[in-house]
Amino acid sequence: MVEKKKGTRKKIMAADDMRRFMADHYYELDRAARTGEKKVAWCSSVGPAELLRAMGFLVYFPENHSAMLGTSRMATDFIPYANALGYKPEICSYLTADIGAFSQRVTPLSTAYEGIESIPKPDVLVFNTNQCRDIQDWFAWYAREFDAPMLGIYTHRGINDVTENHVSSIAKQLEDLVEPLEKISGTQFDLNELKQVVTLARECSDLWKEVLNTAVAVPSPLTFYDGATLMGPAVVGRGTQQAVDFYRVLLAELEDRIENRVGAVDDEQFRLYWEGMPIWGRLSAHAELFAEMKTCVLASTYCNSWIFSAFDPEVPFRSMAKAYTELFIVRSDEAKERYLKEMIDFFRVDGVIFHDARTCPNNSNCRYGMPQRLEVDTGVPTLIVDGDLNDLRCLSDEQTNTNIEAFIEQLEENK
Ligand code: SF4
Repeated sequence: MVEKKKGTRKKIMAADDMRRFMADHYYELDRAARTGEKKVAWCSSVGPAELLRAMGFLVYFPENHSAMLGTSRMATDFIPYANALGYKPEICSYLTADIGAFSQRVTPLSTAYEGIESIPKPDVLVFNTNQCRDIQDWFAWYAREFDAPMLGIYTHRGINDVTENHVSSIAKQLEDLVEPLEKISGTQFDLNELKQVVTLARECSDLWKEVLNTAVAVPSPLTFYDGATLMGPAVVGRGTQQAVDFYRVLLAELEDRIENRVGAVDDEQFRLYWEGMPIWGRLSAHAELFAEMKTCVLASTYCNSWIFSAFDPEVPFRSMAKAYTELFIVRSDEAKERYLKEMIDFFRVDGVIFHDARTCPNNSNCRYGMPQRLEVDTGVPTLIVDGDLNDLRCLSDEQTNTNIEAFIEQLEENK
């Protein structure tokens, strides 16, 4: 039996700064949407946020909002309302939870931030299909609802090596967005402004990478569960000075932990990698469960997905195109496996957990034999957890906990 001990997680002090950052972000959007003092653009998580920011838009990310529905465990209750509108339970539960909640005029922003009554009305919605097709359908629903224009970038998928053809075709699509965005924003595109935003976005990305890489230390100062919330500014604020400032503070705290050999989990015995989406409604419960088993889930593909090392202010359009296309989710299984082997090696993990998220096949990489191939190639054991990002009906807590405990026991026996 794995020995369990309660209350072993450590609070990251910079999390308070992050909460202030997120509050400022949402209050600024709310003010802009209500007063019209600034235009609001909705953007998919790895859509052209840099371009939108450079053109004076405030940028709202519906995926972050839907993750809030997940963490607040409101999501499951609202999915049926979207189902009633024709959006099936099997498709993206970010989409169904978000549309369902909006149809009932409910948002977790009202609970988190006093005075905010609604998500910000868009002046334009801009998506990138690099992650999936659901994002396009999700934005299209709101475009009809708000009678707002929608623009998109259509990306290649299943890419093995990113080639010149991929980059130039996406760069061209990005450049083609400038003219319609100028009309909507009423401003003229300024290349220097874009270079400045890309410089800040690169700086944010580099710092975020350094933050995540602190987990290589033994014991790791950071867990995946910390990362999944601390990534907020990298998601909604890349391209801003405030996000850069936040990650400097966070990095200093983690480096201090390393110097003093303070682990995020007391007496770290096992190190795991998480592949796939978080189960937002069980973030704290799973963090607790692993900590009790002296196990640190310390790195993940998900948190790494906001590292954009290709950003280069000297060639902003091309480098954005490259960064958006090098993304893990866009790649072939072969490229994904190469990447995962690097991560297993780099973070020196004892095992990998694959999350099979029922409603997101795009972020579930365990359905075509990948865990089994990785086990053979690396000798590192894997576990598949069935669940979902937002729809908690797809999850059996009892079964998940039993499987995780058995997996840790297996690691213990193999030690
Ligand atoms: S990648 Fe998955 S979770 Fe994200 S929008 Fe697409 S289907 Fe939804």
